[in-house]
Amino acid sequence: GPRVGVLALQGDFREHAHVLTRLGARASLVRRPDELEAIDGLIIPGGESSVMDKLSRTFGLQAPLKSAIAAGMPVYGTCAGLIMLADTLLDAIAGQQSLGGLDVVVRRNAFGSQNQSFETDLDIPVLGDPPVHAVFIRGPVVESVGPKATVLATLSDGRVVAVEQGNLLGTSFHPEITGEYRFHEYFIRKVAAA
Ligand code: GLN
Repeated sequence: GPRVGVLALQGDFREHAHVLTRLGARASLVRRPDELEAIDGLIIPGGESSVMDKLSRTFGLQAPLKSAIAAGMPVYGTCAGLIMLADTLLDAIAGQQSLGGLDVVVRRNAFGSQNQSFETDLDIPVLGDPPVHAVFIRGPVVESVGPKATVLATLSDGRVVAVEQGNLLGTSFHPEITGEYRFHEYFIRKVAAA
């Protein structure tokens, strides 16, 4: 299978690596710039985006990650990972930066505090039936979608929670913790095709 890295600075990278391995991809954990050279695609996990951002700069990964995204490497961000991929952030902490790439405006913690976490079923046409069971844990919402990005999923109230743009994919929720493998399959196909 294709070589898919998981950014392992912070967050639920082990869950992603487990799903990738189950699906036959060659998963590796990425903490150093040179580890980016050995992968064909990257997942940025859930966690805390402000911490991930700081660590990415401390470990010298911000510039190489931005270059890899600009060069067309497939990248899938879940929750904090979606925040890292957004061009524009709302409710970021002071000085927080994103890597960018996705032509979207994303609001952090849009659904309130940890105890307002919720689960719902989403119709996602590119993944077909049945609906995707989605878990939101202090997740972000995509507040606006620019012309380069495409909406993949919305909540029943119309709020956007999954987007795609070329080789980039982002979800406000966490398929890696629900036994839902279709997003990872979809991403692995993108990696194989790139
Ligand atoms: N609230 C977190 C952030 O701002 C994201 C939460 C998550 O990844 N589950 O980065």
